[in-house]
Amino acid sequence: MAVRVAITGFGGRMGRALAEALLLSDEAELSAAVVRPGSSLVGADAGEVAGLGRNGIAIVDSLDKADFDVLIDFTAPQATVDNSAYCAAHGHPIVIGTTGFDSEQKNQVLTNAGKVALCLASNFSTGVNLCFKLLEIAARVMGEDADIEIVEAHHRHKVDAPSGTALSMGEVVAETLGRDLEKVAIYGREGQTGARERDTIGFATVRGGDVVGEHSVMFLAEGERVEISHRASSRLSFARGAVRAAIWLMGNKQSVRAPGHYDMRDVLGLN
Ligand code: NAD
Repeated sequence: MAVRVAITGFGGRMGRALAEALLLSDEAELSAAVVRPGSSLVGADAGEVAGLGRNGIAIVDSLDKADFDVLIDFTAPQATVDNSAYCAAHGHPIVIGTTGFDSEQKNQVLTNAGKVALCLASNFSTGVNLCFKLLEIAARVMGEDADIEIVEAHHRHKVDAPSGTALSMGEVVAETLGRDLEKVAIYGREGQTGARERDTIGFATVRGGDVVGEHSVMFLAEGERVEISHRASSRLSFARGAVRAAIWLMGNKQSVRAPGHYDMRDVLGLN
């Protein structure tokens, strides 16, 4: 029997991409589509709203009205705090793609990992998670001798910066080099900045148009430079990864994954 998945934030860009990824999956299916209370989409057919043809699933405005095994949540930080608490209280594993948490919100979300299996990733694409692994190698080999800069670009509607993925890339590099990202990160430069300090990790952000997501980490040494780059051309790359994580969390259905905090590298066996 297919894993039954609920999607919160169904009316959003990722909500629709997730619906498409579930339609393409043999192992998971959409069982509930949830939008914020007061949305004009409540009661509409989820398949039609996602542009995939009628599927007979009426959109609801609360998880209490949804029937599902596992939740996939790509919404906004406070909504995810509430939705993860709901899942913990009701024993549903949860896949979280939302970015832009402050540290208190992130702690609140992670508290729920004591009660259910929770897979949190700033980026669910397979390629980006491979890049995380490549970054560890690059940082080990070149990190001490190179200036490290991270550049990311996203569409004009993105509300947080730098992207969660760029921050995760910075964390991988900083951790590998034994640095504390909070102390060494430089978010943009302007005016008389002085010369660059070797241990810093710089971030630059581009916003505009319909860019799905681009990240490049540069290791700039004397006489050579290595760049590890990823370009997403479709939201389906994130959505398919999130569906894969949902299936992974459900195990073989006889044994749902134990409560805990997992990420996409666990799902892909890269940790
Ligand atoms: P979006 O604005 O198109 O959609 C967000 C949806 O969440 C909307 O439908 C909105 O109504 C709903 N929502 C927001 N606050 C809510 C609340 N309080 N209660 C109920 N519903 C609420 O955004 P998007 O492009 O779909 O992205 C959603 C999130 O996923 C963002 O944080 C984004 O950065 C993140 N994202 C993560 C990945 C990844 O791989 N981890 C990939 C893409 C986007």
